[in-house]
Amino acid sequence: MEAVNTQPITWSQDTGTREKRDVWLALKRGFQGRCPRCGEGKLFRAFLKADNACSVCGQDFTPHRADDLPAYLVIVIVGHIMVPLALMIETEYAPPVALQLAIYLPLTFAASLLLLQPVKGAVIGLQWALRMHGFDEENPEP
Ligand SMILES: [Zn+2]
Repeated sequence: MEAVNTQPITWSQDTGTREKRDVWLALKRGFQGRCPRCGEGKLFRAFLKADNACSVCGQDFTPHRADDLPAYLVIVIVGHIMVPLALMIETEYAPPVALQLAIYLPLTFAASLLLLQPVKGAVIGLQWALRMHGFDEENPEP
């Protein structure tokens, strides 16, 4: 188990002159599975396994701590789509329960799988943009 970096951020003149990181751009690039820094290199080397570093700019991805947040966010997003949809269809058409289960369960499963990697990428992009964990260390310029 790795130790969490507990060193406090020391504010100095250099702190304000570091490169600006666009949060929305980093979220978008991460959602697309791209490096939040350069937007070109791949962020993942497997379905949910982040690569160690960007192949284009060399950004180190090992400090990310996405943990369970992507899964929680996917549950919230998919739940907010599927539950109102199920309630609306039930109140408007009242189809048989077996038919509803045959549609909602695979749809929920597929939507969750499709969103999991992009949401994890966005979380890693957000952590990079906010300089969380070890992402505050400067990397070589691309
Ligand atoms: Zn990169």
